[in-house]
Amino acid sequence: MAYLNENYLKLQAGYLFPEIARRVREFLEQNPKAAKRLIRCGIGDVTEPLPRAAIEAMKAAAEELGHRETFRGYGPEQGYEFLRRKIAQFDYRDRGIEIADDEIFLSDGSKCDCGHILDILGEQNKIAITDPVYPVYVDTNVMAGHTGPVRTDGSYEGILYLPCTIENNFVPEPPREHADVIYLCFPNNPTGAVAARAQLAGWVQYAREHDSLLLFDAAYEGYIGDPEIPHSIFEIDGACECAIEFRSFSKTGGFTGVRCGFTVLPKSVLARTENGKKLALHPLWHRRWSTKSNGVSYPVQRGAEALYSVEGREQVCALIDHYMGNARILSEAARAAGFAVHGGTNAPYIWVETRPGRTSWQTFDWMLRELNVVITPGSGFGSRGEGFFRVSAFNGRSNAEEVARRLGASKPS
Ligand SMILES: *Cc1c(COP(=O)(O)O)cnc(C)c1O
Repeated sequence: MAYLNENYLKLQAGYLFPEIARRVREFLEQNPKAAKRLIRCGIGDVTEPLPRAAIEAMKAAAEELGHRETFRGYGPEQGYEFLRRKIAQFDYRDRGIEIADDEIFLSDGSKCDCGHILDILGEQNKIAITDPVYPVYVDTNVMAGHTGPVRTDGSYEGILYLPCTIENNFVPEPPREHADVIYLCFPNNPTGAVAARAQLAGWVQYAREHDSLLLFDAAYEGYIGDPEIPHSIFEIDGACECAIEFRSFSKTGGFTGVRCGFTVLPKSVLARTENGKKLALHPLWHRRWSTKSNGVSYPVQRGAEALYSVEGREQVCALIDHYMGNARILSEAARAAGFAVHGGTNAPYIWVETRPGRTSWQTFDWMLRELNVVITPGSGFGSRGEGFFRVSAFNGRSNAEEVARRLGASKPS
């Protein structure tokens, strides 16, 4: 009989979203009339239709594939030149960051990239992860065997956790201990926090002193409104020697169902062999894609390219404005209802303190029963998420307004 990967058995059985679904189902069985009133502010998925520019480009690309003269089969595994050039130009070089076209690697989304990147990193690495956190960073390291067993609070032995708290504005300082690989995500899911230039510079300095690698998830950079906040880790001097950036069209172009993202891996990023030799990671990542993938579908890459056209950029801005309008409405309503509110100004997530003495799940139940609104309990994102809940601004405007009304009419729990 074949042996299985026992690391998978260490994973906590997909606790958060199945438990939310179970509680909602149970509530609706007891209160079938509430089904029509139920509003979901829980899941981090977009709700609004795709930008027109992307739809037209994908249609045209599909049509090209229908004619012998314009048919295309396998494309370059790392992505078509037309898209890599646009990304490098618009997202980096136009902002004064020297990134070459071939330092961009297209993929079917950054969730996958966060997992796949471990293919080219050694098993000996000490991994540091923020708490609370997007669970993908933790679980992919568990699957790869980089951790010990789970503890009762849901944390894993072997991972260095970096607490994100009210005191540090949910942006952790570099630790005193050594870490080889550090995951950072700004603007942050779930806290909605952003990192200032000086804070990111502190991390780059740490990485250079410790010869560590920063894995920087910038999936929400499009939501930054404050001109002082960096959109990319590569805006920080020296980051090109110590960071890999993950980006996605999911939250900017509404591509969660279309699937397209990319990594930026500068050729100057080095890592070491067991013998102490320092080598570039870029050829390994290139090789990984050539061997394990045939790239992203052609119509999808044309759709992503169209997001960089004049109309495309306007349409992406309109989408982001829509969601950030919801974020404002929801933040103000939660504050008016007496909650302490964080995030929601440069990110589509609002991170709300529960009432004193209430846990995240007690607040979840109260919101579900009293307001018929589904939120995400903060404790599901890590032990430091206890005492908070996440409200997502990904919704239609009328839903956001209705949630605001219900919060306004609610009695303190
Ligand atoms: C939504 C999200 C992504 C994007 O994932 P895709 O696979 O590109 O859809 C990446 N990181 C975080 C933290 C996210 O919330």
